[in-house]
This record gives sequence, structure tokens and C-alpha cells, in this order.
Amino acid sequence: MPKSVATRTSAARIVASSSFAGNGMKAERTRELTHCRKTLVTQREEILEHAHRTSERELDIDRDDFSDELDTASSESILAFAGQIREREQRLLHKIDHSLKKIEMGTYGECAECGEEIGFARLKARPVANLCIDCKVDQERLED
Ligand SMILES: [Zn+2]
Repeated sequence: MPKSVATRTSAARIVASSSFAGNGMKAERTRELTHCRKTLVTQREEILEHAHRTSERELDIDRDDFSDELDTASSESILAFAGQIREREQRLLHKIDHSLKKIEMGTYGECAECGEEIGFARLKARPVANLCIDCKVDQERLED
């Protein structure tokens, strides 16, 4: 192979791989990931703080249980409500941790069902989403 051809080929390859569009898209994706990561970290902190506050309130309820001011039924329903919040928050917390791990591994934003990229608009609204909108709609149809 003549030397000049080989040089032209590798030069063309370098131009193609470092094209403007490619870099632009990558920078855009990095910005999106940074945004999602920030949202996830904030949500995580809020949940932990809220869970902490909830458990503090529960301790107060326990102490007041024997007083006449708070009847048993209502304190039970408050505790049940707090338990529900905790369960929902724990599930969300688990999803947040999972999403943060995926950001680290570079697999964040891929649909768990079809492997397609989940749109940023959806991730922005719901950073813990692990299904693209199409698969989510399909799943909800099955659940109905
Ligand atoms: Zn999908």
C-alpha cells in the first residue's frame, strides 16, 4: 500500500471521529447527566431529611400514647400513614441509588426494556425513570 493512501485514510478517520456534531452531542449528554445527577442527589437528601423528621415525630407520638389528649385510633392511623410514607420513600430512595450507580457506570438513561435512550425531557421530569415513554405506556397498559 502506498504511504500516501494510508496517511489519507487515517487522517479521514480522525476527522470523522472528532467531528463537531459528535463532540456537541457528548457535551450535551454530559450536561444532561450532570443535571439529572444533581436532581437525584437533592431528592435523596430531601427523602433522608424527611424520613428523619418523620421518625422524630413518631417518637413524640409514642410518648403521648398514654395521654388523654391523643386517642389510640388517631395515633395508630398517624403511625400507619408515616409507615406508608416511609415505604414509598424507601422505594424511591432505592431507585435514586440505582440511578446514581447507573450514572457512574455510564448506563444511565437507557431503557431497561428496549435499550433505547430515554428522552431528556422524561428524565428531567422523572430522573429515576428506567423505562422509555413507549415501554412505560406498554407496561401501564399491562397493569390495567
Ligand atoms: Zn423502551
